[in-house]
Amino acid sequence: MLSFFQFLPAEFAQHAPSLGVNRVNDLYRFIYKHKRSSFIGSAAYLNACSDYDFSLPAIKALQKSGDGTVKFLVGLTDNQSVEMVIIPFKNKFSVCLSSQVGCGMNCQFCHTGTQGLQRNLAVHEIIGQYKIAVDWLKNHHPEYRAYPNIVFMGQGEPLHNFENLKQAIAILKSDVGYNLGMRQICVSTAGYLPGLERFNELGCNIAFSLHSSFDEVRDTIIPINKKWPLHSLVKSFESIDYKNSQFLNIEYLVLQGVNHSESDAQNIKKIFGHLPLTINLIPFNPYPGSLWSRPTTFEVEQFADCLREQGIFTTIRTTKGDDILAACGQLKSKVDSHKMNDRFAKS
Ligand code: SF4
Repeated sequence: MLSFFQFLPAEFAQHAPSLGVNRVNDLYRFIYKHKRSSFIGSAAYLNACSDYDFSLPAIKALQKSGDGTVKFLVGLTDNQSVEMVIIPFKNKFSVCLSSQVGCGMNCQFCHTGTQGLQRNLAVHEIIGQYKIAVDWLKNHHPEYRAYPNIVFMGQGEPLHNFENLKQAIAILKSDVGYNLGMRQICVSTAGYLPGLERFNELGCNIAFSLHSSFDEVRDTIIPINKKWPLHSLVKSFESIDYKNSQFLNIEYLVLQGVNHSESDAQNIKKIFGHLPLTINLIPFNPYPGSLWSRPTTFEVEQFADCLREQGIFTTIRTTKGDDILAACGQLKSKVDSHKMNDRFAKS
């Protein structure tokens, strides 16, 4: 049975022609925004929808961090699972979505990367994570009436699942659905060139995980850098359609003693300084068996000052959800965490 959540309204109207466009739009408002219409529940509705699956992925487990971050283990029909995280920030929320089960990029700092790629998420599995988050917020934070921003920074390299990501973003932006704006959605990439070359098709913000601007260092942190080194990516960054106030948002994990010198700051300026740039420094979150250490607050602030001296807008991210392994690079399903622990035990 096909999932309803994989279709744009116009597509579903073609699958259920007896409903007509107006009723399909009502259906979308009802499913996504809980807006009732008299037609919902009618025989016409039930007949037209009986061939489609309206179920969401299951919530297999939920953990709350002391700082308000909530991590969901989302169960899929083939018994795989991914994680989705709701992150609070000043009375607002954002949601971190996964795009793949596991990930094939093998970034060396990343808990998820140790899992390898199992499979791409289908469109309805991506939409399903967000709907779970929206419905949970509605029940637990009824005072919050907005739809949370989305960052695709969970499990997986989103651009490696390009077609499903593109369709999911189009559905999330649909005006009879959540009606999210392009600035409310941010796709993060480790530098997957085939997807970067098509980035403008997505119509959303970009975050790029840099972590070092020296290829010889970045090769050791993000192995796909060997295939697509920085100079091969810069052309794609230049061709991105940065609309008003949009930036190339560089995510930069600060690894103690590895990537936070003055020459790191100067080289970032040299390679990316001609682009509308922001840098978000993320102090590394160690996890069991990780290779690097967390820098001191002083080291991070010192590096931020070096970047600002280069004229680069720089922020430092407060890490959230450390106590439940929900912070950046720490997402991984529980079952596989056990496998990983085995792996480290054996090595
Ligand atoms: S950091 Fe992102 S791209 Fe890299 S291995 Fe982890 S999930 Fe994949």
